[in-house]
Amino acid sequence: MTDRAAAAPHVPTLMTVHAHPDDETIGTGGTMAKALAEGKRVVLVTCTRGEMGEIVVPDLDTPENHRRLGEMRAVELERAMAHLGVTEWENLGYHDSDMMGRPGNLDPRSFWQADLDEAARRLVWFIRRYQPDVVTTYNDFGGYGHPDHIRTHDVAVRAFARAGDAAWYPEQLSPEHGGTGPAAEDGGLAPWAPAKLYEQAIPESTRNAMRERLEALGKPSFWAPPEDATPEQLAEFEAYMKKMLVPDASITTWIDISGDPLERKWAAIQEHVTQIAADSSFMLFGLDGWREAWAREAYILRESRVETERPESDLFAGLA
Ligand SMILES: [Zn+2]
Repeated sequence: MTDRAAAAPHVPTLMTVHAHPDDETIGTGGTMAKALAEGKRVVLVTCTRGEMGEIVVPDLDTPENHRRLGEMRAVELERAMAHLGVTEWENLGYHDSDMMGRPGNLDPRSFWQADLDEAARRLVWFIRRYQPDVVTTYNDFGGYGHPDHIRTHDVAVRAFARAGDAAWYPEQLSPEHGGTGPAAEDGGLAPWAPAKLYEQAIPESTRNAMRERLEALGKPSFWAPPEDATPEQLAEFEAYMKKMLVPDASITTWIDISGDPLERKWAAIQEHVTQIAADSSFMLFGLDGWREAWAREAYILRESRVETERPESDLFAGLA
């Protein structure tokens, strides 16, 4: 075998695919830290640089900082990864699309405007290069409806299906793998089919715990309808929540992140300075709040090429 990468022993690998810097920590930070502690390899792929995000700290919310927000968030990401212990991360190279319905959606550089086959080609290249066993993404609503999160799902699902198929993107593959690209020693790759694809999930119990705690403090909650909502607004709110939340009984995989992974996640969140305000519902209850109510990350096993028993407590369950 001439492929040096393939000749090296394979380390079980998790690839988390995210829309913006900070999503990795909020959604999968504990899972990533835990996998590393267990000797797995973890690779983060972020699809955009988050240039169009809000700046939630008033002192930092200046035109100059908005102009260089991509760079600022890259630094925040690097610092957050140091807490999680992650040393490998990549960017798919798209421009942040901004919130749904805003002009940023029309920017030809934006992820929302991206050609899906081209975007999948980029992610397939990372999958073939890093050879993950497990890939995570969002549901088809992008978790909460943000265009970049929806696209992240669209692209991850396609790349998961295509990376192992030599008919897709043969220019990436070495001739010995049926491709038209360079030889393996010159960077040509082999097809690689990850075994499992997960979608992050927000369990209903997580929403309920957050909502109860916010209501106890008398704080308006993103998780509850406005008190004076009309029946139409109420129906709209319920429909939105239905797309976002997953009944606990439908969760296939619960990852217990209590202890060190949770502490690392908490430290990493603080590094996303421009994105997460001290009084946001993520921060308000402190580390103790997280220990009590949010010490698990939840997933839906969407595709699997191996047999596993559900519910799982490990994304690598069923893998040799
Ligand atoms: Zn995001």
